[in-house]
Amino acid sequence: MVEQREESGPDRAWAEIDLGALRHNIGVLRRAAPDSLLMAVVKADAYGHGLAECAAAARDGGADWLGVALVGEALTLRAAGDTGPLLCWLSVPGDRFDECLRHDVDVSAYDTRMLAEIVDAAARTGIKAMVHLKVDTGLSRGGAVPPWDEFFAAARAAEEAGRVQVVGLWSHLAYADEPEHPTVARQLAEFERAIEVADAAGLQPRLRHLANSAATLRLPQTHFDLVRPGIAVYGISPGASVGTEAELDLRPVMTLKARLTMVKPLPAGAGVSYAHQYVTSRSTTAGLIPVGYADGIPRAASNVGPVLAAGAVRPIAGRVCMDQVVVDLDGDEAHAGDEVVFFGDGAAGHPTATEWAQATDTIAYEIVTRVGPRIPRIVVDSDEEV
Ligand SMILES: *Cc1c(COP(=O)(O)O)cnc(C)c1O
Repeated sequence: MVEQREESGPDRAWAEIDLGALRHNIGVLRRAAPDSLLMAVVKADAYGHGLAECAAAARDGGADWLGVALVGEALTLRAAGDTGPLLCWLSVPGDRFDECLRHDVDVSAYDTRMLAEIVDAAARTGIKAMVHLKVDTGLSRGGAVPPWDEFFAAARAAEEAGRVQVVGLWSHLAYADEPEHPTVARQLAEFERAIEVADAAGLQPRLRHLANSAATLRLPQTHFDLVRPGIAVYGISPGASVGTEAELDLRPVMTLKARLTMVKPLPAGAGVSYAHQYVTSRSTTAGLIPVGYADGIPRAASNVGPVLAAGAVRPIAGRVCMDQVVVDLDGDEAHAGDEVVFFGDGAAGHPTATEWAQATDTIAYEIVTRVGPRIPRIVVDSDEEV
């Protein structure tokens, strides 16, 4: 959830969430898949951006559906007042399917056991379950492995019993972020085979879906009836071989900012932060930023994470601590209280989440989703600026 600004005093750090950028990105994705419905994926607190506000902005921007992983995320969204088409796809035995049905949330079955739980929930509540059957086409993660005959026959029997309606048939790609990878065509062929087997079982899912952000942007043959972009909704490229944010016309939604706690002189040869992994090469000035790994800044960013401070992008000097990092300001003018930017919009001269991912050997998805609960999310809207 997006929090309000801390009530006592100014923020030490905050994440600005630009809902105008989010709506723009939804438009980009819609144009990339003009003949398909669009499901904006808002799992994991909208990739760390704040669930309720981002979900509402995604609907405003033209998303037909929202998608979340967890049952709890779906119920949180309903409690926040969202009423539109919504799918959740990850559960454990005994999960709250009854609540999903009562709140008009579509659910997913990965095998006959999960389907049986959904059928039981439908019997208990007297509400027909809207089910999306998940097939494993080569990711070897969730979903039913072939042959699918028994799974589909159970689903058809549950339809005939009036307990479920199979509205969706779906799968997930292993290598969409490498659009040329040979597994893409193999998974596509396997998905098409699953559609035929489902048809032979008498199922008529009206929503066949396969595409994440990368496939939405680069693999039109995977679009089918609905696309499920996540990371691109937040203005971040799914990967280098898909394109840069600028090439894809994506606008980053999150800008992570903080304020300098102090600025002070350091002599040449000063060891900075734990274990002195950075040593000043000349007399210089240091800026102290009150944000650390407890806020989601990867410790792997020690000596490499780029920060915009005092007018230039500079790597963090030395180790990332739990609550603090230091930057070498090189004598440039800076004062306690000045704003610094960890990542945001490359077009505005900020380091980007993608650059943070490259510097710390991870993916930008992890950079934004790990921004912690100590960082308030502050909604801004670039569409409303004059
Ligand atoms: C997270 C997720 C998506 C969105 O993937 P992106 O790469 O962020 O676009 C789509 N479908 C499923 C099943 C997911 O788990």
